[in-house]
Parts: sequence; C-alpha cells; structure tokens
Amino acid sequence: MANEIVFIGAGPIGLWTAIQIKLQRPNVKIVFKEKHEVYQRTHTLFLNHKSLADCVKDEAGIIEQLISQLKSIPHIRTNVLETSLLDLAKQLGIVIEHQKVDDIENDVLRDYPDAAMVVGSDGVRSQVRNQVFGEENAQRSPLAYAAQIKYSVKGKAVHENQLFDTYPLLKQSNYLASVNVGKTQDGTTPVTIQHFIDKETYEKLKNKATFQHPIKIFSDNVDEQLPPELLKDVKTQIGFRLTNGEDVLVDSVNLTVTELPQQRCQTTTLQKDGVYYGLIGDAALALSFFKGMNTGLKLATHFSKYIVDHWEQIIAKDPKVFTQYEEFYDQYAEIALQQGFKTQTTVKTLQSSINTSAYLPFQFLYFGNNQIADFHRQFDVIHQISQFYLEAYRSSVVGEEPSSLAIKAWFEEQMPAGLVILKKKMQKTAENYVEEPKLHAALLKLANLSTEKMNFSEKAFYGLAISRTCALLENPQEQAKKFTSFIEQVKNVNSSASLMISSLLEVIAGLVLVSVSVAALVGSVGMSTPASVAGISTGGALLTHGFYKLYHNMHPQNDTYKTVQEIKGLALPDSEEDEDTSIPELE
Ligand SMILES: Cc1cc2nc3c(=O)[nH]c(=O)nc-3n(C[C@H](O)[C@H](O)[C@H](O)COP(=O)(O)OP(=O)(O)OC[C@H]3O[C@@H](n4cnc5c(N)ncnc54)[C@H](O)[C@@H]3O)c2cc1C
Repeated sequence: MANEIVFIGAGPIGLWTAIQIKLQRPNVKIVFKEKHEVYQRTHTLFLNHKSLADCVKDEAGIIEQLISQLKSIPHIRTNVLETSLLDLAKQLGIVIEHQKVDDIENDVLRDYPDAAMVVGSDGVRSQVRNQVFGEENAQRSPLAYAAQIKYSVKGKAVHENQLFDTYPLLKQSNYLASVNVGKTQDGTTPVTIQHFIDKETYEKLKNKATFQHPIKIFSDNVDEQLPPELLKDVKTQIGFRLTNGEDVLVDSVNLTVTELPQQRCQTTTLQKDGVYYGLIGDAALALSFFKGMNTGLKLATHFSKYIVDHWEQIIAKDPKVFTQYEEFYDQYAEIALQQGFKTQTTVKTLQSSINTSAYLPFQFLYFGNNQIADFHRQFDVIHQISQFYLEAYRSSVVGEEPSSLAIKAWFEEQMPAGLVILKKKMQKTAENYVEEPKLHAALLKLANLSTEKMNFSEKAFYGLAISRTCALLENPQEQAKKFTSFIEQVKNVNSSASLMISSLLEVIAGLVLVSVSVAALVGSVGMSTPASVAGISTGGALLTHGFYKLYHNMHPQNDTYKTVQEIKGLALPDSEEDEDTSIPELE
C-alpha cells in the first residue's frame, strides 16, 4: 500500500512539515527532492518563537533548543535554520535526494509510482504549483520592494539604541530601514539591513544586485552603481556601524534587491490520477514584509497535523479529505494578506512621516552636529582605503579576512610615514606654481597643515586630499568632478540657517518655561509645585540642548576642508559649485 510522501524542495517550511509528520507518524516514508546540495541564502531573518508553537517536539531536544534560542534572539540566518532542520530530518529517517525537479511525471512519479502524496514546498516560483495546479491558481499582488545589505561582523554587532540612534538615523535616510542582528557563532555575527525602496530604484538594480551576483559594497564602485538616494542610506547605515566600532568584514558586505509581492493560491490541495498534491510554504502563500517564514511555519504545523489526523483517508484516496483544510487555508490566507496590506499602509505612513520630520527645523533628537557627517566619513574612509589599499593590506597581513578595524589599524600604522611622503610630494608640486602666488600659497598651506590634533578619519582625508589635489593639478578636466565630490566628503560642519533657528527657538522656549515655572514656585502664578518643578527641568533641558546646538553650529570648519575649497576655487576658477549630495545638511 502507498505509504509515501514526496516533498519537492527541502527549504525550511518543507522540512518543518515533514519533521512534524514524521514525529507523529514514524511509519510514513518521507523523501525530499532538493536541487541544491548547499543552501544558498544566508540572510538573517526575523523568526518569532511563537511561530513554532503548537508543534510536536523531538526526543533529542533539537526543536526545544531552537525555540529557546529564538526566545533570546529572534533572528537567525536562513541557511543555519535550514541546516539544523535538515540534520533533524535525516536523524528521523527522512531521505534527501539531490535532484532538480523539472518534470513531476518523470522526475518524481517514475521513482515513486506509489506515492500517496506529493507536496510542493519549492518556494515562491513553485514548479509543482505551475505544473499540477496551473499558473492561474496563484493570485499575485505586487506590494513593495526591498534592498538588503548583508554582512558579517567579527565579534559582536552594534545594537541600536531605539530612541537615540534609530530615529536620527532614519531621519537622515531616504528609505525606512530595519536591522536584523543574528546570533554570534564561531566569532562572527550576521547582520542584515533591509531598506524598503521604491519601484524605480528596484528597476535600476534588479539585474545587477541579484542573489547570485550581489553588489560588493567595499570592492565594487558603489558611487557609480547605486542611485544617490540609496547610496546615501548605505553610507548612513554602514557608517553608523563603523563609527560605533563594529568590526565589519569588508569582503562580506553586499547588496541585493528583491520584489516583495503577496501571493496566495485558489486551492492548495488537489487529487490527480490517484495522487494527492499539496502546496506549502511560499509555494502556497508568499507574503510581503518578511512575514513568509513566520506565517508559513504556523500554517505548516497545522497542515502536518491535518495530514497526520487524516492519513488513513489520504491512503484510501478519499476525494473529500482536504475540504476542511481548504476552508481553513482560505481564511488563514485572507487574514495574512489583509495584514500585509495593513503593514504596507503603516510602512508608507511611517516612511512619509520620517521623510517629513527630516524637514522640521526643530530637532529634538540632536546630539552632535557632526554625527551624520561622521557616519558618512567613516564609511567613505574605510571604503576608499579598502579600495585603494586592500591589495597592499592583503599582501602585508597574510591569511586574515580584511575587517574594518584591522584595515583601520593597519592604515593607522602606515599613516605617519605615508603622510610625511605625501606632504613632501605636495610641497614639490607647489613649487610648480610659484608664478601663481595665491594657488602656490594655498598648496603650501595644505602641505603644511598640522596633523597633531587630527583624528583617524581627518588624517585619512588629509592624505587623500593631497593625493586628490595632485591628481587634479595633473589633469584638471578629468579630475574636476571627482575632486568636487571629494571635498564634500571632507566637510565636517553642517551649519545651516534652520539649525540656527531651531536652536534659538529651543533656547527661547526653555527660557520662557523656566521663568514661568520659577514664578509659579515663588507663588505669583497658579501652578502646583510638582508642575513647576517639571517645568523647570524641561525648560532647563531645552535651554541646555539649544545652547549645545548653537555652540556646535558655530564651530569652525576643518582646515583640510577650507584649504581644498580654496584650491578648488583657484585651480578651477570657472567651475560651478556642485550640490552637496554626499553629506546631508542637518537642519
Ligand atoms: C531577503 C529576504 C528576507 C526575508 N526575511 C524574512 C523574515 O525576516 N521573516 C520571515 O518570516 N520571512 C522572511 N522572508 C521570507 C522567507 O524567507 C520565506 O517565506 C521562506 O524561506 C519560505 O520557505 P519555503 O521552504 O516555503 O521556500 P524556500 O525557502 O524558497 O525553499 C524552497 C526550496 O525548494 C528548492 N527548490 C525550488 N525549486 C526546486 C525544484 N524545481 N526542484 C528541487 N528543489 C527545488 C529550493 O532549492 C529551496 O531549498 C524573507 C525572504 C527574503 C527573500
């Protein structure tokens, strides 16, 4: 008698379904056909432990361990989850055959003519769905698009402080972003940053930032490959993490884009020529906004229990056996889809309120005027250094995977000697311009800047400024654009009128609040004592913050920036000022 189930696709949800069936019906023979020998996807996803609730657990405690791990960190790499489920499946006697299924008749039914059931767990582009149920069975609604930056960190990753980091970061970004930090294993931590991008950006990148061929952020020329809006966000996010001392493995940082459509089926079970076919996971219900795994696992637990409870009817080929399940699926899919549409509205609302808040002059969450510029500078320094010096670094530090801190340390070591050589080069170049006294003086000024008080990125930019200046003088036409955009990276003060106004407004509001509250405390205005004390504290905080912003707003710009600006004006007298696109202004 047929007592077999063949699954096509050993992804996480197929494996989970099979494990659940096997744990409850050990006599059922289960076979998988899986096209990949090694799992391909490494992104870190959000997996709520509750998505595994109501399951049956194995005796060895692997499922229990997975649940408790997810309770402490609800983020896991896709391939890590897949591999641990695969190991458990094998332990339970589930057979995995590595074979790509192109034709179900030839590739599956010829090997397993007595299979009671064939389950398509072969993902969003399911062959089983297309071949058996027909392409029209899937109902698709395009919803959103995402760009993922994926990378590994040596040691622990930075965790954002929700209030102080996330909001200012998002405020300076074009796209809403969320960060998934996975579990540290073998000394490295996986990080995935998701950005909800627009359709136009997705269309521009869909053929050059794919899972098979992602954009390598630190070795490809991202300035040319990425649209400026996304590049700004990449710099802000990665720069933030570098600024906070995250030891990023630079070769691992890559960017891919994906479409996030929602897709459900009209029906997910079907009897054909005496065989039952089923669909599960993304093949049955694919959801936007990274909910597919969570929603899919819950449905899979239900599906497997249904099979276990109705196994005798399935073997007896009862044509009505899945009627109740289909009713359940119908409601489940409808609710999941509706939640997706609600999430889409929430994402859009959040996105526009964040974008709008970036224009508000009143910046409550403003703690350092160079903060955002620093993020960008850190990214640019490590990025440029890794591009310029990666080969040299690799040949000097043999056998080590280049990480941001290692490159930084290595570069810091080389810096003093390197800067002496560069300064001499600059002085020599300046001698060619004695007949242009102003330019000559500016070049000498750049050559003689004191590096004593410069920090790492300032020194790095100073060195790069000399190289870029020499290149500009050698070939002004070709280098003009590069030089201009470089100057903007060096800029370190984001002073602007709106920032000044918001600082003054805060100072005034603080003064008024403190005065009124003090007056109330001495009895001339009718306010309770706790309200007066609260007023004084809030007013004091506003005053302090307002003065802090004012002070930073008036802080002078750095010398390298001022000097290269001067050189630009003298070496390229007719050049137009380009818009600052690389470092955002703080209002
Ligand atoms: C970038 C990204 C981030 C995500 N983040 C989240 C998140 O944070 N939370 C969440 O809940 N969900 C997330 N998801 C969704 C989640 O990854 C999917 O819902 C989940 O992987 C679906 O599992 P599955 O087993 O149904 O299909 P898949 O994971 O697609 O697995 C299908 C398997 O079938 C195999 N296969 C396919 N075709 C054939 C064939 N013809 N022959 C043999 N084998 C075949 C494949 O090799 C694969 O192993 C994310 C998805 C993406 C792309």
